[in-house]
Amino acid sequence: MSPENVQEEAQYEDQCGRMFTGTYAELALESQSGVVAFKFGGTSLLGAKRMLHAAGLVKSAAQTARVVVVVSAMKGVTDQLLALAKLVDSGNLADAKRKADALLRAHSDVLAELQLDELDHQRVWNDLRLLGRDLLHEVSAPPRVSSEALHDSLASFGERFSARLFAAALDACDVPSAPVASSEFVLTCDTFRDAKPDLAETRERGRDVLQPLLESGLVPVVTGFVGATRDGRVTTLGRNSSDYSGAIIAHVVNADELVIWTDVDGVFTANPNESREARLLHQLSYEEAHALAAAGAKVLHEDVLPLAAESEMVVWVRNTFNPEFRGTRIGPAMNRMAQENLQRGDA
Ligand code: ASP
Ligand code: MG
Repeated sequence: MSPENVQEEAQYEDQCGRMFTGTYAELALESQSGVVAFKFGGTSLLGAKRMLHAAGLVKSAAQTARVVVVVSAMKGVTDQLLALAKLVDSGNLADAKRKADALLRAHSDVLAELQLDELDHQRVWNDLRLLGRDLLHEVSAPPRVSSEALHDSLASFGERFSARLFAAALDACDVPSAPVASSEFVLTCDTFRDAKPDLAETRERGRDVLQPLLESGLVPVVTGFVGATRDGRVTTLGRNSSDYSGAIIAHVVNADELVIWTDVDGVFTANPNESREARLLHQLSYEEAHALAAAGAKVLHEDVLPLAAESEMVVWVRNTFNPEFRGTRIGPAMNRMAQENLQRGDA
């Protein structure tokens, strides 16, 4: 690593938080297209400190590649939104309203902890407030849409809040960014709670939205989990589907690497919390990963690997809280240089 790189690493630590030491650059070398997608799960985004830490990882990658970020809701938020949908269903609007208020407060607490300067804080707070107002609006009168449609519309707020906050965390780390609602371009059928995307049209529409942002040097922060029907009704792709959203959005921007940032070191042969025999797998082909998933290992959302295999995208599963660890690589055979890098890093 050159002395310049070392200097830059020190800088990341100063600006963002703090916990980050920066080894992503080596991995990014594998990307031929120069575009990578990062998907952060809900545990990685739980609170300002974690958001800033994750933002530091994006900052590091953005030195050598264009980065698109896909976010989950903060951990626990989707469950709360679904509980809220139940309250509305049963006509308990007073409790639903209280829950909606509490959710807005929880997100504005995170905003306060990001410690943005006054003007940025105001701007983000304004966006959060508008989201909170829309959420309240949806729960404050008996629904005019089907309960299924309302369910998805309410569930989408978690990702909408977290995308806004994560974009703010990036800005706080001097990474210019823009929050993007995936409902703008992820076109789906109207099977609410389990909507299927039309990949061809999503790709076309998504490029129109994301390409100009990338070209002007911004990191798009896209909501996972969420799509919309052709007539603009919000849908969701099913529980835990934001990994799949990550793959879809990577596909849209022709990224050749998708990093699923999660809270474990990678893919294991068994659940590491349950079995002492569990071994971490450093490298898997799509077929091997698929076979593991079919045998019941919790690898990734089931639709990720077929899409990744189709476009030969490399999927990494890495631990946000242990970013120096390389994690699991799922993909086609590596070129020699990448292989050497991987081995060097492991040594
Ligand atoms: N927030 C959604 C869920 O909890 C999607 C995801 O996190 O993958 O199911
Ligand atoms: Mg998840």
